[in-house]
Amino acid sequence: MIDHIKKEVRVRMAPSPTGFMHIGTLRTVLYDYFFARQNGGKLVLRVEDTDQSREVGGAVENLLRVLDWSGIVHDEGPFLVSDRIEERGDYGPYTQSKRLSIYQKYVGQLIDAGHAYYCFCTVERLDTMRQKQQKMKQPPMYDRTCLQLELAEILERIDAGEKYVVRMKVPRGKEIIVEDVVRGRVSFSTNTVDDQVILKSDGFPTYHLAVVVDDHLMKISHILRGEEWLPSTPKHIILYEMFGWENPVFAHLPLLLSSDGKKKLSKRDGDVSVEDFMAEGYLPEAIVNFVAFLGWNPGGGQTQEIYSMPALQEIFSLEKVHKSGAVFDRVKLGKINAHYIKNYDTEALFELAMPFMKKFCDRVNMQMDFERIQDRDFLMRVLTVEQERLMKLADFGVENPFFFEDIVLEKELLVWKDATDIQTTQMLTKAEEVLGKIDEDHWTRVYLQEILMETAGEDRGSFLWPLRAALTGEKRSPSPMDCAWVLGKDTSLARIGNAKLLIIPS
Ligand code: GLU
Repeated sequence: MIDHIKKEVRVRMAPSPTGFMHIGTLRTVLYDYFFARQNGGKLVLRVEDTDQSREVGGAVENLLRVLDWSGIVHDEGPFLVSDRIEERGDYGPYTQSKRLSIYQKYVGQLIDAGHAYYCFCTVERLDTMRQKQQKMKQPPMYDRTCLQLELAEILERIDAGEKYVVRMKVPRGKEIIVEDVVRGRVSFSTNTVDDQVILKSDGFPTYHLAVVVDDHLMKISHILRGEEWLPSTPKHIILYEMFGWENPVFAHLPLLLSSDGKKKLSKRDGDVSVEDFMAEGYLPEAIVNFVAFLGWNPGGGQTQEIYSMPALQEIFSLEKVHKSGAVFDRVKLGKINAHYIKNYDTEALFELAMPFMKKFCDRVNMQMDFERIQDRDFLMRVLTVEQERLMKLADFGVENPFFFEDIVLEKELLVWKDATDIQTTQMLTKAEEVLGKIDEDHWTRVYLQEILMETAGEDRGSFLWPLRAALTGEKRSPSPMDCAWVLGKDTSLARIGNAKLLIIPS
């Protein structure tokens, strides 16, 4: 293992504001956060918006809201202060589009030192060049035509207003070693590294230049990022060398794989953005818990899967991050979420579930007034019962439509095994009598459980089955006691009455 903590730990998350937050980005940020907190370090947020064509309005605000939702607190960078973005920290600006003059200065330095050069090649010329290379089965690399230009010509063409980019001049025939905390030693030959554009014709830097300049100026000690960035790292190391700067420590985190473990996780496999999961009613505790295990576990034969954020922060270790890809197991995520929902304080869960309840009630055309105490009580009862099995909040109501809608009853469903119509009616009458005697104050979950189980006696099925069927019209549902509790006395008695009429019409 490399000894990599030699100075103040400063890590960064460097998202591009191109839309929603990928679940993999959350994983990186989470590891950054744990690592920073464990080492008394700082977590910096830097917005990498150098590709203006891909920028999506409101993406930064959105990102800050997701961070807040997940409980990750950064120390420097943009923050949301009453819906406005405000930057804090000594190394700003933290948004790359506000740092253009800084990048231009450093590009100038590289040109002066002969490490970078102007390139006037048109898109058409580059296309033709690439096609030729493809035909000859060569890797697509810039052929350095513009490296031959004399200074006088360069100045003339710039003066004439010709468009240009600046490319880094990658030294040939060298070996670049990346010492990676996760992957160990990885080496690249510079012969396969293209003369990367570092300054675009619009005056914006490319990612490669901006990331190196900013990580250096912001004193970033450790760079944690997804493995898909590993091929870019030699370019960055070359730039560090050209500037004469010390490399930060790199840790490339394993790829996220689809549930069959065969390919990279993509939108085609289902939800991949944190916002998608939020919209489905996954709890932040569950997402954080699940995401932390994508590419890491405490090891030592530990099989426990439920960990709170503070517990994870304590046991996480960057050195134990895996090399191999992490399978995104949605079934496991569902189980973890169900666990958190089940153990959530029901009053607090009610607040979280409210938007989902509203949506569901709208869908089944049920008018619910959340200010009205009776309506709230009813929804609270549904939630209390469903909470025990709910996988995600968006499933609220879905499994139990009979709480919300009139039911269609099949006579056959009421009959327990080979009971006769008379026996079935007797059981329903017994339930009717017992429930009819309970006054509203005693219509509680505990009391209904107690009294109905007592009435059922030994032969539970023959009593409870027709009751469940009468109340729900379904083979499967929460227990008849819980259903009666949720539905209330009037509806329960009305449904039992209807069931009796179905068996023996009067
Ligand atoms: N802006 C890059 C991204 O969108 C950052 C990559 C890095 O961490 O260097 O993920």
